[in-house]
Amino acid sequence: MAKCLRCKKEASIFIDSLRFCDDCFKIYFENSFLRAINGEGLHKKMLTKDEKVLVAVSGGKDSMVLWYLLKKYEFNITPLHINLGYGEFSEESLKVINDFSKKTSSKLLLFDLKIDFDIDMKEIFSRNKNREFCSICGSIKRYLMNKIAYDYNFDAIATGHNLDDGVAVVFKALLNWDIDSLSRNYPILEKTHEKLVKKVKPLYRLQDKEIKIYADLMNIPHTDLICPYKKGKVTLSKTKEVIEFIDKNYKGIKRTFYFGFLRNKNLFDFEKPDLKECKICGMPTTNENLCNFCKLKGRKEIEV
Ligand code: AMP
Ligand code: ZN
Repeated sequence: MAKCLRCKKEASIFIDSLRFCDDCFKIYFENSFLRAINGEGLHKKMLTKDEKVLVAVSGGKDSMVLWYLLKKYEFNITPLHINLGYGEFSEESLKVINDFSKKTSSKLLLFDLKIDFDIDMKEIFSRNKNREFCSICGSIKRYLMNKIAYDYNFDAIATGHNLDDGVAVVFKALLNWDIDSLSRNYPILEKTHEKLVKKVKPLYRLQDKEIKIYADLMNIPHTDLICPYKKGKVTLSKTKEVIEFIDKNYKGIKRTFYFGFLRNKNLFDFEKPDLKECKICGMPTTNENLCNFCKLKGRKEIEV
């Protein structure tokens, strides 16, 4: 009988070289979340209980688990969902989120790209064929999350990015020596401008597979559907497959790699370019005239 590493009862969960019974896995998992919040000498404390936190939820396992944990540990949270209008994928996400919101009596902030922001993603994709869908969609989501958090006076935005996301982004940035990306992909991004809200990733110590096990164990509803625009695309998932292969042969390298990056953050902390204000929406941008969001929307300066 394989024994749980913590309590020596029979183990039921096996992850890499770790073995736990269900109860000890939950303790290990929640401690990893709390260690991320507290910083553990790797970075500053992410959140305090006084801060108003906007939790960005997609309906996938990561952000649903994040929502559950921030609520369980009594942070002052409001879940935010942006309906992207991607057919069945978006409908299923919305259903999962609405159900969980009712079950936990959480007051939701819900927005719809088309209705609230007059954004038609299909039209934007067709006008920007040279850019990857995920990059366009990510850029729009990031802008809106920040804008909503700023407009509603939130102190922080929490997202469900996990260890596999962090490792893949840093790995890819290193392959390309993309220093800008390295300096932006940190689990805590402090407020650097009056209109830029602090961003945190409290699940950055946990792997995809651990989050999936926890979500199932705790019966946290979530959708496993893949975004229709992501399917079949060479996205970060290919990088993740390569990293998974290395990790199998080189046990624990994901954590060593990512925590090492955090310890050596100063190597990539170059002076940031000055931020200007977008001539249309007034939000901060490194561009000369219009921010990327306004450019994607096809806005022209003349409209001002
Ligand atoms: P993704 O960019 O799809 O990998 O998602 C990364 C994180 O962004 C998720 O873990 C969520 O915290 C957040 N997120 C993604 N999609 C949405 C959405 N439609 N509405 C609100 N937050 C989202
Ligand atoms: Zn703008």
